[in-house]
Amino acid sequence: MQDTYHTIIIGGGPGGSTAGTLLAKRRHKVLVLEKEVFPRFHIGESLLPYNVPIFEELGVLPAIRAAGFPRKFGAQFELGDKTRWVGFVFREGKFTKHKEAMQVERAKLDDILLKHAAASGAEVREGWTVQRYDTVQDGMTVSATGPDGQKQTFRADWLIDASGRGNLTGNQEQLRVMHPALKKLAVFGHFLNVRLDPGERAGDTIVIRLNNKWFWVIPVSADKTSVGCVMDKEEFGQWKGSPEELFQHIVENNPAVLDRMKTAQRVGSIQVTSDFSYKNKTLVGPRLLRVGDAAGFLDPIFSSGVFIAMRSAKLAVEAIDEAMHRGNSAKPFRWYEKQVFAGMDFYWEMVEKFYTTPFMEIFMNPREKFDLPAAVNAALAGEVHGGWSLRWRMRLFFLLVKIQGRKALAPRIVFKD
Ligand SMILES: Cc1cc2nc3c(=O)[nH]c(=O)nc-3n(C[C@H](O)[C@H](O)[C@H](O)COP(=O)(O)OP(=O)(O)OC[C@H]3O[C@@H](n4cnc5c(N)ncnc54)[C@H](O)[C@@H]3O)c2cc1C
Repeated sequence: MQDTYHTIIIGGGPGGSTAGTLLAKRRHKVLVLEKEVFPRFHIGESLLPYNVPIFEELGVLPAIRAAGFPRKFGAQFELGDKTRWVGFVFREGKFTKHKEAMQVERAKLDDILLKHAAASGAEVREGWTVQRYDTVQDGMTVSATGPDGQKQTFRADWLIDASGRGNLTGNQEQLRVMHPALKKLAVFGHFLNVRLDPGERAGDTIVIRLNNKWFWVIPVSADKTSVGCVMDKEEFGQWKGSPEELFQHIVENNPAVLDRMKTAQRVGSIQVTSDFSYKNKTLVGPRLLRVGDAAGFLDPIFSSGVFIAMRSAKLAVEAIDEAMHRGNSAKPFRWYEKQVFAGMDFYWEMVEKFYTTPFMEIFMNPREKFDLPAAVNAALAGEVHGGWSLRWRMRLFFLLVKIQGRKALAPRIVFKD
């Protein structure tokens, strides 16, 4: 039997539940099919200040505040040998409109978001895995398997793919283009008694840059901190011991990480996940929009993933609205794709450059001239629009990085590990 909806959403992560809530609030009949039963573990625990107005728009901010997640006021970057450090406080950013975010356990956050979508009127089915989608006359169908193995086909006018790195429709259409260089893996775990800074800085995301790899330190609750290392797949493959031993080896050989981890006790196991950056060639079909990681995935240095997922979901709903209004999806969907690619490209460039030494040399040596640190502050907070005043500063920042590649404008960094 075929049930019919206005929109079907594949996946109930932040992208899927944002689209589900917004469509339900517009009184559309919407179905979210999520293969897991929530709460479920997910990596990606540091949010950006620009996430907060989206939570507000969804009407879910009070529930998120009530969960008591650690408050995040800024971010810190340090070299593994402790020779350089730079910190950003969002509040101090001249171009940064939203000044505070939170660090989260994704199992809790995603559960709150998905329940909120259901409370807003979306039909949420957990334990349902979508196998494929098909285009039919004036609509789309998806074939899915339910928790008891039952198979069902659902029909809708519109389809939003929010299946994350599962990339369901992109894989079906073979649209995924891997980044040629960013073939990374993350080795991570949760710990008690990680050394955090006192006061407001206790909630900062800490990024510790080593040679070709980096650590994150993210406090996800009052006592628990997520610590992970992103490294080349190749380097991981050459390690002969266990992931636990590799993690410990890197911690012990980098003073900045060791300083945070001396008294740390692990909770649960060390996990490994792939971290390959990719984009789909196109983000739309005639009645289909791809959001979040199902549009593209970016190395998580700048904690942009959840924000991009929620922002793209919001834009997808606006594009569907406009397509219904016009009776034609071509223009609104082109607009959607342009907006989302522009936001992704903004961070894509930051991520690619982050792995180069000249970037680190300029980034770790901020000079107040032309308000460049303020522009970087806004970028780290999630300001992807920012207009011309932000754009020219970021172009100048990248020009300085380019010049630094040839002539030292800032002191050189030599990575030893
Ligand atoms: C190592 C690492 C660290 C990261 N750190 C950060 C960070 O600090 N901050 C940040 O913002 N981001 C971070 N990210 C990125 C972040 O996790 C993602 O960008 C974000 O979760 C994307 O949200 P989404 O809704 O698009 O996808 P997801 O959150 O992955 O949700 C997709 C959902 O779809 C479901 N699904 C998949 N396939 C199907 C199917 N066939 N049928 C039904 N359901 C399906 C999945 O079960 C899942 O619940 C990190 C990622 C990695 C790998």
